[in-house]
Amino acid sequence: MTAPPLPLATHWFDSRQVGDGLSVITEPHVHSFLRANIWHLRGSDRDLVVDAGLGTASLRQGVPQLFEHDPVLVVTHAHLDHMGGAHEFDTCYLHEAEAPGTPAPGTLRGEPLTSILGLRADAYTRPLPDLLLDAAPTLDFDPDAYELRAPASFLPLDDGDVIDLGDRTLTALHLPGHSPGSIALYEPATGALFSGDVIYDLREGEQFLDGITGANVEHYIHSLTRLADLPISVVYPGHGHPFGRQRLLQLVQNYVKARRP
Ligand SMILES: [Zn+2]
Repeated sequence: MTAPPLPLATHWFDSRQVGDGLSVITEPHVHSFLRANIWHLRGSDRDLVVDAGLGTASLRQGVPQLFEHDPVLVVTHAHLDHMGGAHEFDTCYLHEAEAPGTPAPGTLRGEPLTSILGLRADAYTRPLPDLLLDAAPTLDFDPDAYELRAPASFLPLDDGDVIDLGDRTLTALHLPGHSPGSIALYEPATGALFSGDVIYDLREGEQFLDGITGANVEHYIHSLTRLADLPISVVYPGHGHPFGRQRLLQLVQNYVKARRP
């Protein structure tokens, strides 16, 4: 039996102003498991883009403002929902431990994704549907033709490296645990942290995704403890909404307690 065709989305990307010179772009028709945040921070000399979404539709066509001001892209880690659109950017930073030249096979199907990620049955409480989209970005879109493309070139980013936007500077933190080369960007002047998948808000009973290939619980505990010791005021995560310092401390404490009883 053939599945009915996906309805055509009226628009693929949502863009929302979050703060001073900061916007977040999301893909609302993507299942929440793969719906990642694309952060766009305006700088006086150039812009910063943190993560590039799933790559199912063209960011250059759908969100042209991302490319207007000489953007530097930082991919927090190489999972498909953060790296999918990276090939559209000229300047792309990624930690070397993420093997950026050889992207993992990508898929928009629930079951193959489970095996690609090495997702343990106890690592994610809600089962994934067969297809991780509820609409198509274009008329000729074929979800089974999806593949993860490597960026044309990339620059290595490591702990302590500084991204200079002119009036704002951010420092890279290497925070392994979710993946070996996970990077977060910290802005000392404001206490803002762009965290990727290292830390994001959780529902009651959920835990960070550490039951996947490349994850390491000891490293995760170390990375989260490091974040708790920094004067972070607000977290702009890879998934879901921003949150403040108190929530960060609570999430760290809950994780450490659960994984180191
Ligand atoms: Zn991830």
